[in-house]
Amino acid sequence: MARKAYFGPIVDVSDDRPLCIHSGVCLRGMPDVFDVRRRPWTDPSRAGTPELADRLREVVGRCPSGALRIEEHHSHA
Ligand code: SF4
Repeated sequence: MARKAYFGPIVDVSDDRPLCIHSGVCLRGMPDVFDVRRRPWTDPSRAGTPELADRLREVVGRCPSGALRIEEHHSHA
């Protein structure tokens, strides 16, 4: 199980590193959230408003390899 989860207040992001083809879509699209010089390199806590979460959904949706995936929060009410 290579997929790793990173947690944010609105959405989480999971990442399966071996799938990444290094297109840079994530790094260019949302450099605040995706920064390879930082640990953890993926930080969805930086997408803490609905607008930023939508942008994160859009950027992750453009990941060409499927390495990145949005994990929505589901209410258990
Ligand atoms: S967008 Fe996807 S394939 Fe491209 S660098 Fe990011 S994780 Fe890798």
